[in-house]
Amino acid sequence: YPSDKIRNFSIIAHVDHGKSTLADRLLELTGTIKKGHGQPQYLDKLQVERERGITVKAQTATMFHTHNFLGSDTNFLLNLIDTPGHVDFSYEVSRSLAACQGALLVVDAAQGVQAQTVANFYLAFESNLTVIPVINKIDQPTADPDRVKEQLKSMFDLDPNDALLTSAKTGLGLEKVLPAVIERIPPPPGKCTSPLRMLLLDSYYDEYKGVICHVAVVDGSITKGDKISSAATGRSYEILDVGIMHPELTPTGILLTGQVGYIVTGMRSTKEARIGDTLHHSRSHVEPLPGFKAAKHMVFSGLYPADGSDFEALNHAIERLTCNDASVSVTKESSQALGMGFRCGFLGLLHMDVFHQRLEQEHEAHVISTVPTVPYIFEYSDGSKVIVQNPASLPSDPKHRLTACMEPTVIATIIMPSEYVGAVITLCSDRRGEQLEYSFIDSQRAFMKYRLPLREIVVDFYNELKSITSGYASFDYEEAEYQASDLVKLDILLNGQPVDAMATIVHRSKAPRVGRELVDKLKKFIDRQMFEITIQAAIGSKIIARETLSALRKNVLAKCYGGDVTRKRKLLEKQKEGKKRMKRVGSVDIPQEAFHELLKVG
Ligand code: GDP
Ligand code: MG
Repeated sequence: YPSDKIRNFSIIAHVDHGKSTLADRLLELTGTIKKGHGQPQYLDKLQVERERGITVKAQTATMFHTHNFLGSDTNFLLNLIDTPGHVDFSYEVSRSLAACQGALLVVDAAQGVQAQTVANFYLAFESNLTVIPVINKIDQPTADPDRVKEQLKSMFDLDPNDALLTSAKTGLGLEKVLPAVIERIPPPPGKCTSPLRMLLLDSYYDEYKGVICHVAVVDGSITKGDKISSAATGRSYEILDVGIMHPELTPTGILLTGQVGYIVTGMRSTKEARIGDTLHHSRSHVEPLPGFKAAKHMVFSGLYPADGSDFEALNHAIERLTCNDASVSVTKESSQALGMGFRCGFLGLLHMDVFHQRLEQEHEAHVISTVPTVPYIFEYSDGSKVIVQNPASLPSDPKHRLTACMEPTVIATIIMPSEYVGAVITLCSDRRGEQLEYSFIDSQRAFMKYRLPLREIVVDFYNELKSITSGYASFDYEEAEYQASDLVKLDILLNGQPVDAMATIVHRSKAPRVGRELVDKLKKFIDRQMFEITIQAAIGSKIIARETLSALRKNVLAKCYGGDVTRKRKLLEKQKEGKKRMKRVGSVDIPQEAFHELLKVG
């Protein structure tokens, strides 16, 4: 396939507008997968993706399609890259777009343009991609394609006549999609006569083949047996296998200019495969491709083995998983309360959740995670600056006077039906937000931009927003600069002992409320024990909230030693079960749920 017979495109949309379903239909239409293979959202391979119905990893598939082009039937090679819609994974989206010349912008005909539609449109627009609007789900009774056309025109200046109307469910209008891809999206621009330049898009570890890299051949071509080098590391490899995703790995022995496919080299670990790296023939020298912006870690949290002994197992599980998710940063840390563990950086809270779930499901690791924190900057009178990724690492009485605290902010885009404007404004000001923009995208929908402290949106902002707008608001954000802020470290003390893993950093104005909530949560989740337990929240030496958990009375225990054997056994079993998920901090047993519940306080 010469590159003028190749089209590389991706599907972008707000979550749930039908990207993955549309991808399924296109794969069926081209015979790439069989119709009714019984597994919808074919490209969502991970268990988390199937359970949550969301796409986490971008996936690529190559399809072949015959189209009457300039008067004669011509075979085309089409590479489709399905992308995640959720804000945490916009990093995956921008990566996918780097290998594309065009994008299908899918919009739900009933819901219309949503916050991530806006974010994804601008990602595509800034990468100079041809955008084809696809108004999907026109089979729904509440579909209003004309309104969506107006929104596309007013928000993005897209010509309403260019919009395709589809139902990925009933198949209506789907026959127009691939012809539009072929006729409107330009072929990849690379030169087949230039030396090889290949963009490394993604990598993962396969039990049998080792490291598999997804690549886009920008210039030149590659053949099995070729010797290639990495522009980033200078290391050289031999191509042991090369092919396309059709949609499973299909060896072809060769990839030409403009193609997207996979290569297997002797790489031992995915750490060698730097996403965004340029690969070239070892014998030639090339100008590296622009690559990608590095992933920004927005949220940090400590991960500890749920029972102290299996640190090594957790270490192994994290190593394996980061092979398939290079966007997580990992450093070792230790906590007085929890022992040896890891400090991990995530792209957002959903990313963090997904990482936990994958650790448990794919690698059978059981973890306790600490309260998530955002990266603060603390400045001291001697001029030193510290980036704080772990509140516990802040000294209670530092050597030098604290001169400034800075916290990261984001610019949030929120789209909502106009009747919810008041509620959303109240929420945003409660979260210390500053309104930057307020307008209407049509007669019924409002559009707002807010600057918000990152800390305020990582904890439960999205759920709150959904609940006050009956699920009708959509939300997206991009990182913005740091701003000065009055921050304090909030300690939690059990029987007078600070528990380092429970320390958080909060805005001073919020400390009393957060302290009270944390103490109440802990009281609820810690079981009464043989002795009295005091639970306190403190700023420095000042106690701001306090609760006492009274000791178990003797006669409660006595029941365990009664004559009823089955009851006794049940109790013992229950205790055993409970033990697995307990963490002993000082002399107090804390169930894993307590740590989990603390995540939700903010
Ligand atoms: P994604 O998050 O954008 O990948 O969306 P999915 O493809 O996972 O689809 C979200 C939901 O919308 C699924 O339940 C689909 O079955 C449903 N869906 C997708 N396309 C259509 C459509 O054209 N009509 C209707 N009625 N439902 C659709
Ligand atoms: Mg999807």
